[in-house]
Amino acid sequence: MTVQNADKADAVIIGAGVFGCAIAYYYTKNNPGKKVIVLERNEICHAATSRAAALVTRIRTKKYFIPLSLETYRAVAQMEKQLNESMDMKQVGVLHLAASESSVKELDALMEVAAEFDEPAVYLSQSTVHQKAPWINADNILKAGFMPLESYCDPYLLGTFFARCAKMQGAEIRQGVAVNEVLMEGDTAVGVTTSAGNIYANAVVIAAGAWSPIFAMQVGVGLPMAPVRSQYWITERNDLFPVNSPIVILPDVQAYARPEGGSLLFGIRESKSFTTSPFDIPADMSEFLFSPDKGVGDLSEVIDQLARFFPRVYDIGLKYYMAGFSGYTPDNNFSMGIVPGVNQLFAATGCVGAGISVAGGVGLAFAELIAGKPNPYDFSHFNISRFGKIDPFSKEWLDKCALARSLKRSG
Ligand SMILES: Cc1cc2nc3c(=O)[nH]c(=O)nc-3n(C[C@H](O)[C@H](O)[C@H](O)COP(=O)(O)OP(=O)(O)OC[C@H]3O[C@@H](n4cnc5c(N)ncnc54)[C@H](O)[C@@H]3O)c2cc1C
Repeated sequence: MTVQNADKADAVIIGAGVFGCAIAYYYTKNNPGKKVIVLERNEICHAATSRAAALVTRIRTKKYFIPLSLETYRAVAQMEKQLNESMDMKQVGVLHLAASESSVKELDALMEVAAEFDEPAVYLSQSTVHQKAPWINADNILKAGFMPLESYCDPYLLGTFFARCAKMQGAEIRQGVAVNEVLMEGDTAVGVTTSAGNIYANAVVIAAGAWSPIFAMQVGVGLPMAPVRSQYWITERNDLFPVNSPIVILPDVQAYARPEGGSLLFGIRESKSFTTSPFDIPADMSEFLFSPDKGVGDLSEVIDQLARFFPRVYDIGLKYYMAGFSGYTPDNNFSMGIVPGVNQLFAATGCVGAGISVAGGVGLAFAELIAGKPNPYDFSHFNISRFGKIDPFSKEWLDKCALARSLKRSG
């Protein structure tokens, strides 16, 4: 077989969302001279990445997520220097508002995690909560915690910063190239077939977001994740939403919010989150009808609960609606690592709606793994085999993953 030089790489990555771009960034940074090709059938960050609310959460009760997020913050600082440009991260802090005994317990636990990681965190009074976030009715709040270092970002900028730095370091990012299949020789992945010919590589990474199970299935592996919709709304502008007011997490109504240039962006978890087979999501998502009524039916189910904290939700104008698919799993842990039973095939998948936050750590982990080095992080909770043999396209599986999102209470 004759292989043209241009079509051979040390590593090939399927998908240029934030994960694909971050992996290419760290791989080229840590392995000068090695060649990585990232293949994206649309434009980079076209799918989940550009749609994210983009809370870059540092502190979580799942402590093993924390080092991954902290690496995102480090990467942003480094890339800002490299590009001599600001990414304009909005460090507004986060307010966790607990209005039930169980939420108070969760908040206390979170504050302990913050202390363990040396992250600043303080309890605030009801009146301070209202001062910081004037749209909040604090009467029902039993306890409030504030973590000032938490931030949100422009997710498209984060993805493109990774991509631009990766390109400066030698990565090739090919847009408008669709991957069809993973090429195998025996039990080893040796490249991919694409709309623009075959590409051979020593390592293949599946970072295709919602569509990832399709590639794993080609090599006989049921990748444990399912596309589950997230949705949020952005209100009209109002003085109630100062641009620098904090992110707010309301676990008792499973909602979150953050300022968006004088408006409020807020999201909820529906009692039954929408899911669909990866095969049913078109390559170009711009035409996909996530919700014919722009989520109004789902919002009306929870609006009375939400109004306990956000009384103006009944009459404030909703200007924008956004929806997209993240890869969810039944235990809300990622599906990441080496694809079991296949040499040199890796999956950076099942982001459980946290991919913006953890992109730095995920990028570094896979860059090391595909270079044959040890993973610097604890990925034991993300093991792809942990659910046994599953059919990721069955209704039963899709529903299990959707339920995990429906039960989510954090940001
Ligand atoms: C509404 C919403 C709100 C969110 N809010 C947050 C948040 O606040 N904080 C947070 O951390 N995360 C959030 N997320 C999650 C976050 O957006 C994702 O975790 C992250 O973007 C996943 O990145 P990815 O690279 O895995 O996937 P994607 O960005 O979906 O990228 C996958 C890429 O693969 C490409 N691809 C697929 N198939 C092929 C093929 N055959 N050939 C070539 N290319 C292919 C796609 O075109 C796509 O560009 C949110 C998501 C949504 C939808």
